Amino acid sequence: MFEMELPLQQIYITRKEISPYCLRTPLVRSPKLSEGLRSIVYLKLENLQEIGSFKVRGAANKILGLTPEQKIKGVITASTGNHGMAVSYVAKRVGIPAIICVSEAVPKNRIETIQRLGARAVVFGASQDDAFTKMKELQEQYGYISVHPFDDLEVIAGQATIGLELIEDLPTLEMVLVPLSGGGLISGIAHFLKTVNPSVKVIGISMEQSPVMYHSLKAGVPIQMEEKDTIADSLRGGIGLNNQYTFRFVNQLVDDVILVSEEEIAQGMAYLFSEHRLIVEGAGAVGVAALLSHKVKPFGNTITIVSGRSIETSRFLDAISPYQSFDLD
Ligand SMILES: *Cc1c(COP(=O)(O)O)cnc(C)c1O
Repeated sequence: MFEMELPLQQIYITRKEISPYCLRTPLVRSPKLSEGLRSIVYLKLENLQEIGSFKVRGAANKILGLTPEQKIKGVITASTGNHGMAVSYVAKRVGIPAIICVSEAVPKNRIETIQRLGARAVVFGASQDDAFTKMKELQEQYGYISVHPFDDLEVIAGQATIGLELIEDLPTLEMVLVPLSGGGLISGIAHFLKTVNPSVKVIGISMEQSPVMYHSLKAGVPIQMEEKDTIADSLRGGIGLNNQYTFRFVNQLVDDVILVSEEEIAQGMAYLFSEHRLIVEGAGAVGVAALLSHKVKPFGNTITIVSGRSIETSRFLDAISPYQSFDLD
């Protein structure tokens, strides 16, 4: 359906180009998630990426595709989370400058991480919006190239390489659960899988706390919402009122969007720790949360994308501590 905009061959080319920067992550079985059901559930472990999340795929594809002139100018973003880290990481390895605009509210350790990754942190204003305004200003003034976290075909092509790996590793897959925020991850995966086989079910999973794509789909147009606090903090934020790509992709390709509560997400994190000894951030555990809560029933060979691991130790321990019953038998 989007073959004109993003030909599958381009995704194969992308996979080859980004391979020095991205791991080909493993797909592992998680038998307890489908106990008693005629189904097998697998986890795609993007939390094992060197920089901690799948975002490195899109960032690498975008940055590698810049012209030499653009590379000399350098890249800029306002994300302090996984996207900002991925952009810093790729820029350093490619040897080009990166600037991350952050607000004064961003914790010191986050700023130190960005600096350790070789990027320049520009601290400005009290909110994320202020940091974003500063980014626009610097971009216009100095011609830095901004790397969008999701609404960009190059970024979507990078995330689509996950779909390619899934088909290679499990050609009989029937259903995929994908954490959903701005929709770059699910757009790429759904586009690849549905082009190969339109009957594969692709389900987006968001948190109950301000799921912007979910409500935008209901409204039929991109909408804005007030952000709420959530343990799945990497899923926070809007989709952009003048969204170019991901709203259309998700609207046409995704079969359903399911919402999970804060408790369900914490249970998902506890499950991944007790069963697999994985430390996964809230956003990375929403697919497991949807299965554990039976909000999604696995169907045949089902894959859930474990998207990242960026969470502070104390926050992780607080989240999983009510669920000691999940501990090893
Ligand atoms: C960014 C992110 C997501 C959501 O990706 P979108 O492309 O914005 O939908 C999910 N999980 C983690 C860990 C992320 O960093």
